[in-house]
Amino acid sequence: MARTEGIKDFRCYINGEWVGAQSGETFESHDPFTAKVWSRVPKCDARDVDRAVEAARNAFDKGEWPALTPSQRGHLLRKLGDLIARDADHLASTEVQDNGKLYAEMRGQVGYIPQWFYYFAGMADKVEGAVPPIDKPDMFTYTRHEPVGVVAAITPWNSPLLLLTWKMAPALAAGCTMVIKPSEFTSASTLELMRLVEEAGFPKGVVNVITGFGQDVGEAISTHDKIDKIAFTGGEVSGRRIMQQASVNFKRLTLELGGKSAQLVFPDANIDNAVKGVVSGIFAATGQTCIAGSRLLVHESIHDEFLEKFLALAATARMGDPMEMTTQVGPVTTQPQFNRVLSMIDMAKNEGATIRMGGKPADRPECGDGWFIEPTVFADVKNEMQIAQQEVFGPVLSVIRFKDDDEAYHIANDTAYGLAAGVWTSDMARAFTAAKRLRAGTIWTNTYRAVSYMMPFGGIKNSGMGRESGQDAIYEFLETKAVWLAF
Ligand code: NAD
Repeated sequence: MARTEGIKDFRCYINGEWVGAQSGETFESHDPFTAKVWSRVPKCDARDVDRAVEAARNAFDKGEWPALTPSQRGHLLRKLGDLIARDADHLASTEVQDNGKLYAEMRGQVGYIPQWFYYFAGMADKVEGAVPPIDKPDMFTYTRHEPVGVVAAITPWNSPLLLLTWKMAPALAAGCTMVIKPSEFTSASTLELMRLVEEAGFPKGVVNVITGFGQDVGEAISTHDKIDKIAFTGGEVSGRRIMQQASVNFKRLTLELGGKSAQLVFPDANIDNAVKGVVSGIFAATGQTCIAGSRLLVHESIHDEFLEKFLALAATARMGDPMEMTTQVGPVTTQPQFNRVLSMIDMAKNEGATIRMGGKPADRPECGDGWFIEPTVFADVKNEMQIAQQEVFGPVLSVIRFKDDDEAYHIANDTAYGLAAGVWTSDMARAFTAAKRLRAGTIWTNTYRAVSYMMPFGGIKNSGMGRESGQDAIYEFLETKAVWLAF
């Protein structure tokens, strides 16, 4: 796939129109492989937020959108899914240029994204109220599920389209309208998606996108009293701030935050499969996934054999241009993140962890001027070290030994996070026990990183609240109304 030549100018999408920021200002977005500016994006502020919220509010309260039947909303969502499938190549390569994700992975991911729109399109007309057998003979009661209202979706830089889809498909199926703020580092694919929203025929104002920084546009959203719900994916610090600010009008919240997920390899595991799963669990997307299996817990009896095989496989990872189908590890998405990961590597060295691989920027001709860091492995890590407790969000693995199952579960759960865990075992009783004892929103057994529109995704503890995907997700965008009638 080819990169866009020159500098591309993007505009925001508000009330069905392509507009610049009221300030007239823009900011630049870099291609992480070339480290050069490739696009300019409007630098919105609170005035643009007001404009987008007003459009979303009007579209929610009156006009075409609230008059549509749920089946008609489903029809629009299905159409959008079809258009995404048609333009998957373009959407995928836009995200590769803006974010540095691998084209090989993005093509598969964008090809799968329509399934969320089809799934929630099918659910739009299957949201049914209840008729409780009320304990009062002179009364009839029923419940209605109604859209929560104007939803703000705030998304991070690591998977802009997929994480937006997880919010957009159920929110629109429920009948909400939306104000979307992508990350300041990766606005492009979200804006490209709006071309398809327009083509699908969504009424004006139903979906709006404003671009800008967390500290101004983000804060103007979280404090806005005409927004009813925030669906957020991002870091723990931003999540905490949003939760505090959202209390102004008690906004509903879905928070998908960080992780420090453990991969547990038991002595009865198929070692070769586990090695492959753990390598991809940490180094896929250059470790920049909330579900990165960044703590490897290995039973002491297989620790050395496992680590040798792991290092041998990880050493074969091909780094380079993310547009190339053969590349396996791409650049870090942003320069600040590149610096942050390197400083966390230094921190781990100072804490006494033993470096077994990488630990520095990649100095390979195929990496050009990009923000590349060598896949990095620390052994002899103690779970209380900061490298085992803080989310790195980069290609850095911490390896920890365990003596028995109880110790493995204790170490795995001894973290502020609770997003995911991986279990590698051939003993099914152990697999079920692990699924019960591990405190995380997703448990993968003999696999890692699988996701589906049918399976709920979300965290416990500091990894957040609420669930995306699966049947429950639509109820995150609905309120239940109780109706009483006396005879
Ligand atoms: P971030 O929190 O810095 O930014 C996320 C979004 O929030 C951006 O759009 C940003 O502009 C906005 N933002 C920042 N401060 C804000 C504020 N005060 N008010 C409102 N909005 C604000 O996160 P990031 O660096 O873009 O993404 C990485 C983080 O996202 C990691 O911690 C990762 O674990 C997490 N993540 C979680 C999931 C999940 O599903 N649990 C998925 C992907 C990423």
